[in-house]
Amino acid sequence: MLIVVMEKHAPVRQIGAVLKEIEGLGLQPHLSRGEHQTVIGCMLSGESEPVKSRLGTMEGVERVFPASRPYRLASREFRPEDSLFHISGVPVGSSRLAMMAGPCAVESHAQLMAVAEVLTASKVPFLRGGAYKPRSSPYSFQGLGPKGLELLAEVKSRTGLRIVTECLTTGDVELVARYADVIQVGARNMQNFALLQELGRCRVPVLLKRGMMSSLEELLMSAEYILSKGNSQVMLCERGIRTFEQATRNTLDISAVPVLKRLTHLPVIVDPSHAAGDRALVPSLALAAVAAGADGLIVETHPDPDRSVSDAAQALSLQAFAELMQRSEEVAKAVGRSFYN
Ligand code: PEP
Ligand code: MN
Repeated sequence: MLIVVMEKHAPVRQIGAVLKEIEGLGLQPHLSRGEHQTVIGCMLSGESEPVKSRLGTMEGVERVFPASRPYRLASREFRPEDSLFHISGVPVGSSRLAMMAGPCAVESHAQLMAVAEVLTASKVPFLRGGAYKPRSSPYSFQGLGPKGLELLAEVKSRTGLRIVTECLTTGDVELVARYADVIQVGARNMQNFALLQELGRCRVPVLLKRGMMSSLEELLMSAEYILSKGNSQVMLCERGIRTFEQATRNTLDISAVPVLKRLTHLPVIVDPSHAAGDRALVPSLALAAVAAGADGLIVETHPDPDRSVSDAAQALSLQAFAELMQRSEEVAKAVGRSFYN
């Protein structure tokens, strides 16, 4: 891909002319309009030199250079400014943190309503809950499926909370997209490329979780699968990786936050729950993530944590969750961020 950087404040006419020129060459342009600067990505596979010199001489073009990273649309070269998008009215990637919380799995209306009440009181706009669960054992609870989606829809209509829920297969994308404000791709599906492409073709924002044995570059390449199909609303999620350490379920890679911030414009969300696997450790990891510059958190909480049908050990009680949100808001303030509302 060639990166075409337009001059600051280049008029729309000049931007349009470059887009047209690229299309005229039979190539595909990708537009990134920031507050200060417009960048156009020009996908090409053959000889780049003639295209580069042609575009380089056009009015309003500051410079043209080949993308240096394997992920292109996800890179800061393509979009120097942080991505900021609105999900059903909630800004993500801004100075306001995107907070998401809820049970691991959707279990009942009463369960979701009890969680929803605490979320609303804690200024958390996103309710998470899995209707389809990717379980390590085929004998474990697999989720309520369509019935779970219906329960989420009911709570959404009563409370206005936005829904984050996982989609496991390409065949379910259309159905899940009807209910979700954000579709989650779980760690185990991070490299399910067919699923990523299908999500790229749908227009629902995606929360892409890092595979438990995946590098950050692999995570960004997976994001690229979604972006390259036209869906630009992708959030990355660090949820802990496998290391030799046995004291925690996974090791939260806190470095992932500043490293991703350097490499990509996409918002970075941290999941301290699946990293820790132990509710006593969740608050420390959550606060560290906010301090490190995460754009939001996704946390598991349950009205009766020990009775959670999945991931009971890491579920926070509603009270512990509310306390964590208060402390998170203080840390957020200390690093120049705030909560939504
Ligand atoms: C989950 O969010 O409940 C989940 C299964 O997460 P992960 O894919 O990160 O294991
Ligand atoms: Mn879980």
